[in-house]
Amino acid sequence: GHREDTILYLDGVSVSFDGFKAINNLSFLLREGEMRAVIGPNGAGKTTMMDIITGKTRPDEGEVFFNGNVDLTRHDEPAIATMGIGRKFQKPTVFEGHTVDDNLALALSGVRSIFASLAHRRTIEEERRIVEILETTRLSHLRHTSAASLSHGQKQWLEIGMLLAQSPKVLLVDEPVAGMTDAETAETARLLRDIARSHSVVVVEHDMGFVRDLGVKVTCLHEGSVLSEGTIDHVSADPKVIEVYLGR
Ligand code: ADP
Repeated sequence: GHREDTILYLDGVSVSFDGFKAINNLSFLLREGEMRAVIGPNGAGKTTMMDIITGKTRPDEGEVFFNGNVDLTRHDEPAIATMGIGRKFQKPTVFEGHTVDDNLALALSGVRSIFASLAHRRTIEEERRIVEILETTRLSHLRHTSAASLSHGQKQWLEIGMLLAQSPKVLLVDEPVAGMTDAETAETARLLRDIARSHSVVVVEHDMGFVRDLGVKVTCLHEGSVLSEGTIDHVSADPKVIEVYLGR
C-alpha cells in the first residue's frame, strides 16, 4: 500500500519484552476515514499494538507513520496525543461527581483542572459541539445527570464523547462493549458507525457478534502478527483463525 494514502501505517514492526516478541513483523494500514476492528486471542498483541501507535511503547524495528508522513517513532506519548490520536481504554474514567454536561465541557476545554473548566464561560461554538456530541453518544436526555448515576454502557459512551470533544483524527477504542447489555452493545455498534462517518477508528474487541454488527474490515492478530484480514465472514471462516480460537 501507499503510505501517503493512510492515516495509520505500520510496517515490519517488532517489539520484544525480555526477549519475548510481543509484536513480530506487524504490518497494518488504516485509510483516512476507515473504521477497522482488531481481534485476536488474549496475548495476541492487540494492546501492545495500540501502545506502539500512541507512543507508550517504542518499537525495536519497523515504521510507524501517522497521516502518511509523521514518523510516530520520533515522538513521545503526550506529543502523539496532541497530534490527534485519541485512545479510550476499557475502563471508563469519567468524573463521577459531575454531570454529563460538565464532563464534556471539561474534555472540550482541554483544561487540566475541572474547576478551571467549570468556571469558564462557554462559547456558542463550544455549546454547539456539546449538543452535537450528546446526540452522537445518545446522552442528550442525560445531559444534566450526574455521571455517577449512568449505567456502565452510558459511561462508556460518555467517555467516547469526551474523546470526540478533543477532536481526534484517529480514535483507538479498547473493548467498548465489555460488560454491556445486549441492547447497549447493539447501540454501541450504531454509535461507532455514526462516528466513523467523520473519523478514522480502530476498535479492539472480543465480541464477535458486535464486530459483525460494525460491518467493517477485520484484522485478526496472533503472536504479534496479522493472522488474517478481510471481511468478518472471511476472517471467521479462515481455518487459521478457527484454530487459534479453538486451540485456546
Ligand atoms: P492482547 O492485548 O492481545 O491480549 P498484549 O499486547 O497485552 O496482548 O500482550 C502480547 C504479549 O506481550 C503477551 O504475551 C504479554 O504477556 C506480553 N506483554 C505485553 N506487555 C508486556 C510487558 N510490558 N512486559 C512483558 N510482557 C509483556
